Amino acid sequence: MKDLEIGGVTIKRGETKRIELPMPPLYTDTRMSMPVHVQRGRRDGPTIFVSGAVHGDELNGIEIVNRLLKHKSLKYLKGTLIAVPIVNGYGVLNQSRYLPDRRDLNRSFPGSAKGSIAGRLAHLFVNEIVSKCDVGIDLHTGAIHRSNLPQIRANLDDAETLAMAESFGLPVLLNADIRPGTLRQAAGDLGVKVLLYEAGEALRYDEFSIRAGVKGVINVMREIGMLNKRKRKGHKISKFVARQSGWVRATESGFVNHVAQLGDHVNKGGVLAIIADPYGTELCKVLCPEEGVVIGKQNIPLTQEGEAMYHIAYFRKPDSVAEHLGLLQDNLQDDLVLEDPTIID
Ligand SMILES: [Zn+2]
Repeated sequence: MKDLEIGGVTIKRGETKRIELPMPPLYTDTRMSMPVHVQRGRRDGPTIFVSGAVHGDELNGIEIVNRLLKHKSLKYLKGTLIAVPIVNGYGVLNQSRYLPDRRDLNRSFPGSAKGSIAGRLAHLFVNEIVSKCDVGIDLHTGAIHRSNLPQIRANLDDAETLAMAESFGLPVLLNADIRPGTLRQAAGDLGVKVLLYEAGEALRYDEFSIRAGVKGVINVMREIGMLNKRKRKGHKISKFVARQSGWVRATESGFVNHVAQLGDHVNKGGVLAIIADPYGTELCKVLCPEEGVVIGKQNIPLTQEGEAMYHIAYFRKPDSVAEHLGLLQDNLQDDLVLEDPTIID
């Protein structure tokens, strides 16, 4: 295993270092930097990055990284973990998905050293982190006022990526197309396999999503030989790859009573929500177009005609997906009942 250098700092086998990568300062001449935690095992193994808050209002990933770094099993780490809890510090400061120039960092990869602020940040992250890794896990949540059911999105046509995605331990996997300018695309161009974990809502910590995320990252690290495999406890969770997914949109503007919740198995024609006028008179029912599972939903009870309200994924066995989501919830509850929530077994 060669010496690793990040931001001009050398990290040797067996060492753990925290590095601050300088980023463009704020107007106020306040210095900005990207916090990077590098932990190298004594023994050889792959190099993985785990990144949070590429979208600055998506906070679950920050807590997932924090808990991951306290995980006891990292003591026996093989290879190198590069954890970046906050990629887009500007967004976190502004509680915003975007950068100060209103660009989306996850559409600005691979970026360039002389580009926009988004491009510079993307370039810094690719150059200093992604290009030094074999695999990566990028942690996201739904947008503002929207929740995602914990799910993995990745290029499942690639056998290695599929094995990683399955090892994460979630029932819901999506074979997601790669959009131009995303971190996944830039990483893929460098031969780095990336999983996207989507769970919870922007600007919120969601305990289920955080627990499933920490467990999932550890599971992937076990799968690729960075951590010792352990005998599985709890229910066995089956994995289901969605055939397709799509958003159901509001046909009226109004006030919403959400009937279907995340993870629900909904039949064709089943009622997802009821939209009413300001006096509570029903305007319409929002119906499920085809039997599926709710993997994303709007939470705010206000909707405008045309707005995306429910993200439905279509599976061959939607009832089994819902059942295994229940089993996962059980596992995570039993698994992590802690006296001190900061120490995770
Ligand atoms: Zn995101």
